[in-house]
Amino acid sequence: MTHLQTNSNSKSETLFTRASQHSHRVALITGNKTTSYDELTKLSDMVAKKLLSILNTEDLNESRIAYLAPPSLDHVLIQWGIWKAGGVAVPLAVSHPPAELCHALEDSDPSCVIVDSVYRGKIQEAITSDLPVIDSSELVGGNFNVDSSKTKLPSVTSGRRAMMIYTSGTTGKPKGAVVTHEILSAQITSLVEAWEWKKDDQIMLVLPLHHIHGIVNILCCALWTGASCHISPHFDPLDTWNHLSKGNLTLFMAVPTVYILLIKTWEAAEPEDRLRWSNGASALRLMVSGSAALPAAALERWKVITGQVLLERYGMTEIGMALSNPLHGDRRPGYVGVPLPRVKIRRVDEDGAELGENSTKEGELEVAGPNVFLEYWRNPTMTESSFRNGWFRTGDIAVVDRGDYRLLGRTSVDIIKTGGFKVSALEIEEVVRQHPQVADCAVVGIPDDDWGELIAVAIIKESSAKIEPSVMITWARKYLASYKIPREFRFVTKLPRNAMGKVQKKQIKLLFLDSSET
Ligand code: AMP
Repeated sequence: MTHLQTNSNSKSETLFTRASQHSHRVALITGNKTTSYDELTKLSDMVAKKLLSILNTEDLNESRIAYLAPPSLDHVLIQWGIWKAGGVAVPLAVSHPPAELCHALEDSDPSCVIVDSVYRGKIQEAITSDLPVIDSSELVGGNFNVDSSKTKLPSVTSGRRAMMIYTSGTTGKPKGAVVTHEILSAQITSLVEAWEWKKDDQIMLVLPLHHIHGIVNILCCALWTGASCHISPHFDPLDTWNHLSKGNLTLFMAVPTVYILLIKTWEAAEPEDRLRWSNGASALRLMVSGSAALPAAALERWKVITGQVLLERYGMTEIGMALSNPLHGDRRPGYVGVPLPRVKIRRVDEDGAELGENSTKEGELEVAGPNVFLEYWRNPTMTESSFRNGWFRTGDIAVVDRGDYRLLGRTSVDIIKTGGFKVSALEIEEVVRQHPQVADCAVVGIPDDDWGELIAVAIIKESSAKIEPSVMITWARKYLASYKIPREFRFVTKLPRNAMGKVQKKQIKLLFLDSSET
């Protein structure tokens, strides 16, 4: 049983019907090529018709179609083609190894997988059944024989399932989070309203297109509005800086890791490049960070370099975006702002009792509203248990101060229970990171007979820095209560991260559990 029932008669607008109204405006820019909304509509109609013809049906009727293609015009055409043919789009991550692709392919049970020829080998390795593989050039290229006058596209109402995004899987195997067209539109329109998207906006996409951030916040919001999206096949700091300094962008959205790499590249650049880049970036109307906690040092440095105060927001694959700092007005460092339009948020204590708006206690965020996903694919038990009385249980802990939310981390990995206290890993990470000889760090709890959990920190030192655990303990004591001081240390050269730059805390824990590591 799902918390929402699909309403197949729903008549609300889908992204692709709305976007087709922007006719001659430029929708996508890829390299030197521009594609108008009219062209996008025509080309994706053709992709849908070819797909129907290859699969020998008049309507995909919510069949899943998986696809593996880098961010590109072809990628968008495939996504729209699947939607227009009545299917459910299942974007796969180009960075994932065959084993992870195999899980998504087996779990989503697609009718076929569409693949860019570059990734054909990877897909072949991932496939264990006789799943049909279609080369993307067959669909988006002109040489497939289909009598388009004879093939009609099905009528796709907004209550249909539209997309299935695999979650990052921080707590188990990735699950396919399903949204309908209607839910997708709700996630988009909430952001379009809050961040005042306009037709004249131009945004650069440097994030992958298998995750909600790139798909919804950037690509879909741009196409909903009639704005233009400059698509890069992957993130490159130099290209990004050069693009930011061209003067045509109005918006930029990325994860903290992207901003940190941009800062490093800026620090290493010649003075004239720095000046050009800073001037370019300062002209944008809005720069957004999210999908992981933004370190205070990065926020500060970005402000010094570009004059921009990054707007931090909070969201999740299952709920779209939920909280955002204001477009106009003060953005408090360390806070993720207030609920977005039409998103309902409450906090509950460990027993599930709702905390009052003015409660200073920490609580788990629960979210309801038209933005919340429909279900975990073919997993009614997991779907059911992820809701409490119609509210989605995010697993994220937050406090509220004067109406603004501050995240303390995920219950599963970031809330450490030590000596009877509950401690936020994010709070400790902020303190450790402020040490001048620390480049980055990640805090985890490791099982301990006496303390329940011990606070452990993996640290990347600044190059040539010589720091001992004792130095870090002295430093932490200046800012943190004694029960929050890390007890275990590992000095590492890299933190394990996923394709979105999120630190993989389960792997960090292993560093400490394997006693041979130092
Ligand atoms: P994903 O579904 O991959 O987007 O991951 C969602 C998770 O990322 C949330 O449940 C949070 O734990 C984390 N997250 C998203 N935005 C933020 C943020 N601004 N600060 C801290 N954590 C965040």
